[in-house]
Amino acid sequence: MEEIKLMDEEGRRIDGRRPDELRPIKMKVGVLTRADGSAYLQWGKNKVLAAVYGPREVFPKHLQDPERALLRARYNMASFSVEERKRPGPDRRSIELSKVISEALRAAVFVEQFPKTSIDVFIEILQADAGTRIAGLVAASAALADAGIPMKDLVTGMTVGKVEDTLILDLCKEEDNYGQADLPIAIIPRTGEIVLLQMDGHMTQEEIDRALDMAIRGAMKVYEIQKRALLERYERLVREKEYIADISEV
Ligand code: UDP
Repeated sequence: MEEIKLMDEEGRRIDGRRPDELRPIKMKVGVLTRADGSAYLQWGKNKVLAAVYGPREVFPKHLQDPERALLRARYNMASFSVEERKRPGPDRRSIELSKVISEALRAAVFVEQFPKTSIDVFIEILQADAGTRIAGLVAASAALADAGIPMKDLVTGMTVGKVEDTLILDLCKEEDNYGQADLPIAIIPRTGEIVLLQMDGHMTQEEIDRALDMAIRGAMKVYEIQKRALLERYERLVREKEYIADISEV
């Protein structure tokens, strides 16, 4: 493995952050007119778009479930999103990520309220810099809320990793590539359910316990950003409605 210094003597990371510092996050909900719900998320250098369609008729029909909605998420990384051009189309990684993201979202949505339908979630990674599965999931859950789909709560998440034997929050690409471990996690805050948990690399049991604690605290900050973005969306809608009401009185 290539030698690269990921933390300086003062405990600052490669991008200047402290071990428990998040990258800047910006989020906007309701960005696509043709989707039922949508969200755009900038998380550090990641740029992610999520679109939701449904509940709608299932296609192909034989996949229809008489008991619940079929929730399908598709994670896709654009060719231009990474340093080395990514071959377009699904690969092992994107199939895996689509599966774990679908499962995480399914745990939050009241799928039994919409039998025989499908809820389709499209996640497009426009620019990638580590943590895209969680960024995709965070954007997708806000897009589901924007589509008005009943859920227990939003799904939120975070990645914790280890570099130079120190636990760090919210890895950037160099830390993901050259660090000792990374552990993405997604939760449903209201119920406390963990709906995604993966790990790459090595951590001791004690480190895993601390990492989970750190990740959940970080994820709760992301949760606040998601809620704020949804609130802004509805404030925008109310302003537009008031404006229409105003001009129709003229
Ligand atoms: N990556 C890349 N090319 C690929 C897949 C990934 O350059 O084909 C980069 C990208 O920046 C991604 C990072 O490696 O965000 C980490 O990928 P990983 O599989 O750990 O998933 P993520 O951390 O994005 O959820």
